[in-house]
Amino acid sequence: MDRLIAGIEGSKDGPLVVLVGGIHGNEKSGVRAVESVVNTILLDNIPLRGRIIGIRGNLQALNEGKRYLHYDLNRCWKNGSVDRILQDGKRTEAEDREVRQLVEFFRALPAGRHEPKILVDLHSTSSEQGDFIVIPEDESQNPVVNALKLPIVIDLNRHLDGTLLQYMHQRGFVSFAFEGGAVGTDEAHALHVSGIWELLHASGMISEETRRVYSHYDEYITEHHLNLPRRVSVIYHHKIQPRSSFRMKPGYHNFAPVKKGELLASDRSGEIRSGHDGMIFMPLYQPEGDDGFFIVKEV
Ligand SMILES: [Zn+2]
Repeated sequence: MDRLIAGIEGSKDGPLVVLVGGIHGNEKSGVRAVESVVNTILLDNIPLRGRIIGIRGNLQALNEGKRYLHYDLNRCWKNGSVDRILQDGKRTEAEDREVRQLVEFFRALPAGRHEPKILVDLHSTSSEQGDFIVIPEDESQNPVVNALKLPIVIDLNRHLDGTLLQYMHQRGFVSFAFEGGAVGTDEAHALHVSGIWELLHASGMISEETRRVYSHYDEYITEHHLNLPRRVSVIYHHKIQPRSSFRMKPGYHNFAPVKKGELLASDRSGEIRSGHDGMIFMPLYQPEGDDGFFIVKEV
């Protein structure tokens, strides 16, 4: 399996769009969506301003269909951790190799005259209605990001350490995570594909005329966002303690309303009830992961 899905060079100026699929190896929708978009661009010979590059994230985990093999490739991007991985040649965990190759790839990007520089990290979630954008707060009004018309979580990055989007944000990229929906569903694929088209247009990479030819993508995403909140902020983060046997109560999806006192989950110490009125966010329905759930409110 290659790191590179495809790189297409249009004009020398214009945006640089880097699309990353499969940072979590069980989330293949992003990879498929990038393949589908670049194939259409190549087959239909669509003129581009700037350059688009699609890559695979965790190659070894993608091969095995697992979220990760030794550690989470979307929680290891704190500068100090990356430096340690690069400097300590004796480190041989599976993800160490991925980090080294990805850093090499990012350093070799042809940033040059390209503006804006955008990195999209494509994910899918273990719960229903898992489509939203996670972006650092200071970029949350960015028109490219808002063109996707999905709920924007403006401060999740304060609760999650070492995400790839934080690392690339510090390196001058408008970086955001694009969660397309539930793992393995056609809906996640369609939403990822439609979202990528919207951002190619909003970033100035494809023309208005091209966008009209592919207007079904815009229609899909416009229809989809009805009834979803526009912009939310985190009010509570339930971190899972090691070996606590956390179990989320079945049936929650993202942005489902919850009431203070409502039973949400259980662990070894007993019931876990909501401390707030709000909306549930990222309820965990898979064995791996340290974040049980979040509670968010519309802002
Ligand atoms: Zn993910």
